[in-house]
Amino acid sequence: MSMHHWLLPLFILPLLVGSIAHASEDGLEIVATTTQAADLVQILAGDIDGISITALMGPGVDPHLYQPTESDIVAMNQADMVIYSGLHLEGQFDKVFAALSQQRVAVYPLSQPVKEAGFVFGGFELSETLTNVDDPHFWFDPLNWKLTTEDLAEALAALDPANAGAYRANAAAYMEQLQLLYDWANAGLRSVTEGQRYLVTSHDAFQYFGAAFGWQMQAIQGLSTEDEAGVGDIQETVDFVIANAIPVLFVESSIPPDTIEAVIEAVRAQGADARIGLRELFGDAMGERGSFGGTYIGMLAQNALTIMQSYQCMGAAVEIPPWPPSLLPQPPDDIWNVDCDA
Ligand SMILES: [Zn+2]
Repeated sequence: MSMHHWLLPLFILPLLVGSIAHASEDGLEIVATTTQAADLVQILAGDIDGISITALMGPGVDPHLYQPTESDIVAMNQADMVIYSGLHLEGQFDKVFAALSQQRVAVYPLSQPVKEAGFVFGGFELSETLTNVDDPHFWFDPLNWKLTTEDLAEALAALDPANAGAYRANAAAYMEQLQLLYDWANAGLRSVTEGQRYLVTSHDAFQYFGAAFGWQMQAIQGLSTEDEAGVGDIQETVDFVIANAIPVLFVESSIPPDTIEAVIEAVRAQGADARIGLRELFGDAMGERGSFGGTYIGMLAQNALTIMQSYQCMGAAVEIPPWPPSLLPQPPDDIWNVDCDA
């Protein structure tokens, strides 16, 4: 109740300003919430002139917890289109999106075409009041991201008909890249023996990734990071790791490592061995701009490589397929080659 009170003026003021100062006579102002959203719009915009893209969340930011700042809200109100992930990934934005949809700002959730196609995993219970919740991490299946690419291109074409052909051509080229990425990751991740494919992480971001590539997931926290992990969650994960002799657990870049470290410690205290993965996995945020993991393709490929290499270093038989020469960006040597003893 009290939280709603202080949020209210923050919304109303920029909305009023926005409706007067909505000025993008030339060119398109697009605001994207997450790093993934910004990456996709950038790819579809390609070299079309006059499109300005503002990304609200940076690398390593947890979108479940991120609070929109006052300048974020101003930017959203002045935009021609706000592109977000949806399914309540941006948990603190719900009221802003509702307010924006009352304005002349086009609001586009990237999850929409995936939900409409029936590929969203639903029916989860987060708490006594939050029941029948959808898993928001749909982008971790590159085939879902293909659907989103095609649909976002249509949304941009509708907003900016003069460049419709360019958006569609950029989408078609990128969808071919996403298919190459899927085929490469799928061949590699499925080369691990079926009973050994376990992905243990801090929070439940990887159900779509697991389903896409045949891996079973176990996470300490649920779908959102809003509720803290409890002792029971940690013990459950410890039991799961020991029961399935899982050799490696993964820390996510957008989440503190404490809970995974607590599990490792407890597993070792019971005489079993487990290690943290060679690198952090990109969870709900991509890597630094300009780095391999700063693109969607690099982010997903680096996650797949980190999992495959970490299992390989723990003695599992893994066949990492050669990188498709036309799939860009190419992984840098320090990510592609790994020293298990380092
Ligand atoms: Zn998440």
